[in-house]
Amino acid sequence: MSTMVVAKIPTSLPLSSSILLRKWTRKCTKILISAPNFLVFSYLDFLDSVFCVVYKYLDLLMEGEASPCYCRSKNKSDEDQEIGISETLHGRPNKLKEMIDLIQFVEKLLNINKVFEAGYGDFKEKKKVGIHRLGNRWSDCGCDSCTSWMKVDDPKLHVVVKEASSKAMREDSKENGNTNSSENVIFIHGILSSSSFWTKTLFPKLYESEKCDNYNMFAVDLLGHGKSPKPRDNLYTLKDHVEWIEKSVVSEFGLNSFHLVAHSMGSIIALALAAKHSKSVKSITLVAPPYFPSKDGVEFTVINSLTPKRLWPPEAFLSSVMTWYEHLSRSVCFILCRNHRTWESLIKRLTGARDVNFLFMDMLKITHHSGWHTTHNVLYRGVKHMDKNLDILMKLRKKVHVFMGTRDKSVPPDCGNQMKNKFPEVEVNNISDADHRSVVFNRENVFAQDLFQIWENSTSY
Ligand SMILES: [Zn+2]
Ligand SMILES: [Zn+2]
Repeated sequence: MSTMVVAKIPTSLPLSSSILLRKWTRKCTKILISAPNFLVFSYLDFLDSVFCVVYKYLDLLMEGEASPCYCRSKNKSDEDQEIGISETLHGRPNKLKEMIDLIQFVEKLLNINKVFEAGYGDFKEKKKVGIHRLGNRWSDCGCDSCTSWMKVDDPKLHVVVKEASSKAMREDSKENGNTNSSENVIFIHGILSSSSFWTKTLFPKLYESEKCDNYNMFAVDLLGHGKSPKPRDNLYTLKDHVEWIEKSVVSEFGLNSFHLVAHSMGSIIALALAAKHSKSVKSITLVAPPYFPSKDGVEFTVINSLTPKRLWPPEAFLSSVMTWYEHLSRSVCFILCRNHRTWESLIKRLTGARDVNFLFMDMLKITHHSGWHTTHNVLYRGVKHMDKNLDILMKLRKKVHVFMGTRDKSVPPDCGNQMKNKFPEVEVNNISDADHRSVVFNRENVFAQDLFQIWENSTSY
């Protein structure tokens, strides 16, 4: 017996030690790779705290009141849940910030706690006061295009309308009334985009078909995006976005039935709108929807999956800064969005081009307040509502079609299959070699034909 054991030891030792060595090497590599990550993001944590104080003083100086922010961590509150505020706003882990607690220190030092204590809690009350009360923030752009909505009593979203039997598009029609028997389609874009996402790409291809004459098309600029209003007294929750589409499109044009087509984050809004108007909706087409099974704390799963703290590639780093750091992202908006006209003319002069890429310009047509809140309250928090809304639609046997690019780097390509696993009635089309945008852009003709087919096949209710 003992000789047998002795005989086994020499063979098992090198094996276990090689496994240990491999594990150790992997652990060391992981630490080495994550070290710069840790250092840079710890520094940004610190910098964000510094900018928190800087902005409070600048706001105080420019407007007489410090803007509220989410730097203080706060426990889950029922009121936040009810309003639809994402847990990622108050609960972003920031160990360094907790350690230093620079804000508290400066506040105590200067003894002006009261001015700094402004929170978002009273926003509901402010909403009642009136949409224009707060005006334009000093760090936002004040150009005509960004502020024209303030001159109107009851502002609505900017809508590009293409009426049935007409190949011409018009903007924000007041001569509303959907009296003809044509069908209606509402197009909803994703985060940091605008109606141009559809009107400059897919619409020309839809017009090429005779079938287009049967459809009224409405492409909206979401609240806080493009030429739509960008109110400061709004928290840009999923409910807010749905209500603004209702009042600017569904009620404004008297739509009793409609199809929905949405891209990326717009899919979350489209599903909420569809579930609320489940009797009116005829079909729902979602392109690259960020779907994650709903559960407690899903907001953090989404933020870590869609915009993790990463140094490389540069666009991933910029996304990290814009979504994890409230005050640093305000600085980026201050440089880019506040000066969107300057950037536009500079790029035109440097490149000699007549037009700057509309996707780039759309990204700059937000305010920090609108972009920050929409990202957290719709993209991260809104995901939580997708299961509930899909449940409602599936029970009513509504058609939901999903198009996912297999090379999508913004939304995990598996999101479509995950939705299909939970809701087998959803039709998922995985488009090979397409990414987050080229799933529409490089195949507009095919996608236009797919849409006509979906609309024609949808059962009328
Ligand atoms: Zn702050
Ligand atoms: Zn502007």
